[in-house]
Amino acid sequence: MSVSRRLRCLSLSLLSLAAASMIANAQVKPGRDPNQPVDQEYTNKIREYTTEPFFNSPLTDYLPASADVPTPKAVLGDVAGAPGRLPYAEDVYRYMRMLERASPRVKVYSIGTTEEGREMIAVAVASEQLISRLEENRARLAKLADPRTINLDEEEADRLVAASFPVYYITGAIHSPETGSPTALMELAYRLAVDNSAYVKSIRDNMVTLITPVVEVDGRNRMVDIYNWHLAHSNQNWPSLIYWGHYVAHDNNRDAIGLSLKLTRNVLNTYIAWKPQVLHDLHESVPYLYDNTIGDGPYNAWVDPILTDEWQMIGWHNVSELTKFGMPGVFAHGNFDTWSPGYLMFIAATHNGISRLYETFGNAGADTLERTLSPNEYQRTWYRQNPPLPKTKWSQRNNNNYQQTALLTSLHYFSNNSKLFLKNFYLKSKRSIEKPKNEGPAAYVFPADEQRPGNQSELLRTLQAQGVEISKSTAPFTVAVKRKAAGGAARPTPSPSPAASPSPTPKTEDRTFPAGSYIVRMDQPYSRIADALLDYQYWAPNDPQTAIYDDTAWTMGELANVEVVRVTDIKVLQAAMERVNGDVRSSGGISSNGSVYLINHNADNALVTLRYRLKDVDMEAAEEPFEAAGRKFSRGSFIIRKASGDDLRRAASELGIQVYAVASAPSVKTHPVRAARIAMMHTWLTTQDEGWYRIGLDHLQVPFTYISTQDVSRDPNLKSKYDVILFAPVGRSAQAIINGLPMFGNPLPWKKTELTPNLGGIDETDDMRPGLGWSGLQNLQKFVKDGGLFITVDDTSEFAVSYGFTQGVSANRSQRLRAVGAILRTKTVDSASPIAYGYGDSLAMYCFNGAVYNINNGVGGRGGRPQQRTTGRGTLDDPDTPQGRPPAEIPEPPPKVEPWEAPRVTDEQRRNAVGLIPPNQRPRVVLRYADSRDLFVSGLLDGGDEIAQRAAIIDVPSGNGHVLLFSTNPFWRGQTKGSYFLVFNAIMNWDNLNAGRKLDEK
Ligand SMILES: [Zn+2]
Repeated sequence: MSVSRRLRCLSLSLLSLAAASMIANAQVKPGRDPNQPVDQEYTNKIREYTTEPFFNSPLTDYLPASADVPTPKAVLGDVAGAPGRLPYAEDVYRYMRMLERASPRVKVYSIGTTEEGREMIAVAVASEQLISRLEENRARLAKLADPRTINLDEEEADRLVAASFPVYYITGAIHSPETGSPTALMELAYRLAVDNSAYVKSIRDNMVTLITPVVEVDGRNRMVDIYNWHLAHSNQNWPSLIYWGHYVAHDNNRDAIGLSLKLTRNVLNTYIAWKPQVLHDLHESVPYLYDNTIGDGPYNAWVDPILTDEWQMIGWHNVSELTKFGMPGVFAHGNFDTWSPGYLMFIAATHNGISRLYETFGNAGADTLERTLSPNEYQRTWYRQNPPLPKTKWSQRNNNNYQQTALLTSLHYFSNNSKLFLKNFYLKSKRSIEKPKNEGPAAYVFPADEQRPGNQSELLRTLQAQGVEISKSTAPFTVAVKRKAAGGAARPTPSPSPAASPSPTPKTEDRTFPAGSYIVRMDQPYSRIADALLDYQYWAPNDPQTAIYDDTAWTMGELANVEVVRVTDIKVLQAAMERVNGDVRSSGGISSNGSVYLINHNADNALVTLRYRLKDVDMEAAEEPFEAAGRKFSRGSFIIRKASGDDLRRAASELGIQVYAVASAPSVKTHPVRAARIAMMHTWLTTQDEGWYRIGLDHLQVPFTYISTQDVSRDPNLKSKYDVILFAPVGRSAQAIINGLPMFGNPLPWKKTELTPNLGGIDETDDMRPGLGWSGLQNLQKFVKDGGLFITVDDTSEFAVSYGFTQGVSANRSQRLRAVGAILRTKTVDSASPIAYGYGDSLAMYCFNGAVYNINNGVGGRGGRPQQRTTGRGTLDDPDTPQGRPPAEIPEPPPKVEPWEAPRVTDEQRRNAVGLIPPNQRPRVVLRYADSRDLFVSGLLDGGDEIAQRAAIIDVPSGNGHVLLFSTNPFWRGQTKGSYFLVFNAIMNWDNLNAGRKLDEK
């Protein structure tokens, strides 16, 4: 393409964009209605708290007065964004309900509660006519959202579009230290209800604005506590917000895949019930307003191109309007890649709506501060032509001005173009239904003969929560599927480095699925989210995006360890099937009669729930596979010789576990499977990643005691209280775990007081600064020597290795490897280890640049790996021969050692075996990373040979106890439910981990 033609294309598209925005702006000017009085006192305060006139706009530099409707001052005691004032969520709600009582234009809905029982709300604001017609509008939107209901009739769709008004859903304060949005949204709701300017009136007359002012309610209240503590201790350092929600912090905005948190479920349910066209989430981390809706590449590969065009339209209009107001530092694009569907706003992107996100500039509290930016924040770039100031005084009010101004311009643009966006909403829904005959696939099939029906149902229930319809086949059916890889892999395995140009005609073969198989049809309105979650991801190692924003993979069938078959053959839609009503559940109960009960170990997570539910019942694990009741039972299967049949039946049917009763126990070696006493140990440095462990255990009703490194530092007899200590990743160095925070300044309390009623509850301390310390380290090491099991993951495994818990194991951080939140294949090395019970030989696991382990049979030594021959005479296999003497006899070369194995013990080492680890104390590798060519499953993998074949999960005996090291992460964001059981196996077999172990002879 010649330069001039390229320019012409560009200018044409700019023209059409300009035309669209001209229509939007032709009608009304932003600014107050001169006939409506302003609330002068409030307006004066807005101006006082705004640090420069250009940090305000004609939309927010005044507040209209109302005779009947209270302003935010009624609750705040001052204006929104006033210095020194942060309202609790309950105060925000109190104000929204005052608005509701005072104005027929406002309605407040309760949308659920948080983990700690606090309420979440959604506030609808529109003209009284629209508010009174919400239900009939909702019925129309439901038809546009599901074009099957109107037989995909375009004329009917146009009629519905003409009669409907859109819903724009705004969510604030998901990230608790980002404190500005609740007050901005209180004032926005007031303006939308009261302001008679043509600009605002056109918004409320043409659309519904729906507002959830606080998404992370538990975290908001804790943040307000911290801020109040800071105000009361003005010359002191204040504690960091170590807990936001009950479980996780910043990752609450990565939960739209796993749906583990109540806030995600509540917003998702509200989204599905209201059918809004936009979900717009407010954040604060970038000066002064970064509209990251357009973001950067790579874009998520499963969203409709109509949506990515909408991002451009809305994003650029937004930047352009605020720039014209003279507000500096407003920009789009930036470095946010739009790949992962885990963000809250992406609920809209994957459900035929529009996802939007602002980053504005907050001070993490309500202090007015002098803020100095770094050059990369204030320098001009191509997408930031009017950058923020290098240094300025910044207030919460400035932030509130930016948030409200940008939202009002977006709402106004949206209301002016409401029919366009409603039609697009319909078109995206329609194109989702037409997926099977266009891009495909036609369906995903979950076979009825799945080995893990419990985990299969759990994954299907997650899809149901996303609004996805599930069907079940009523007869066997045969369709063409992708041919299995040679060698008969258990499931289709993508090639390790997919070729740049995939073969045009993939080889297929017929496969018959049994009756009872689940089918996720792609001819449904929410096919897009199912496709995005179940498909494989490929992030090219040479992708120009090098600042990867988040995980590159999330393939849910692999992470759940259940088989999911992508079917492009549209014949699958003709299979005999019926819609599943209600939650998908695996069936459970006791079949046949007898007093001994057998349960096959298939690594379904419900088994651990059963173990703890019937904690007083003796259960044993079979150390070898066996056959009984005409069935095969795998290694680790439960044998229960004495139990109340009624209790077991009730638990099994509720948990979806199949129990087989037999007359007598099989003759197989067994050991007890115990409901071990578990402690989860956390630091006072971060609690983000360990929260995903707590939520996993809580959801499966596995009880644990929550202790901190400070508790451990004071307790020399941990083994008397706990059998297992689980130390999830911290994200800090081993030294930081020992040292804690620096001991400068004042103590940093984290506890419930009158001033801070929302702190504590999860855990408390008078001073967050002290770490594990050397006494804690000694106590932990004693716990292991006394027979305890210490489970560590990723960086806490490095902690265990660095501080000498694991003789014979050394760790390196990878140098070239890039496995950025990727899914990698592992192979089972020792299937007799209880940790591997219930698993096959190749499990896919989540990995974020995992540690590279070396295994040795000696302490301190690096061992002798066989070396290549040196330079000399002859070919590769020939012996070199020194000249002038007869050839010497060459000793037998040592046996080949695999990268996951320790080098064999040599006679030289045994002569004076000071550093030689006795065979029963040597590291036992349970799982390793697969060979290079099989390692890649999903996401980005580059430099994989560095970690290929290395040990991934190592059981290290120490004294009477064990340390279990993970290089992968088995508990991540509620997505990795297929690898949870590696940890549960370790817990339930904590005092029998040596079962099935073959010891070295020497
Ligand atoms: Zn944020």
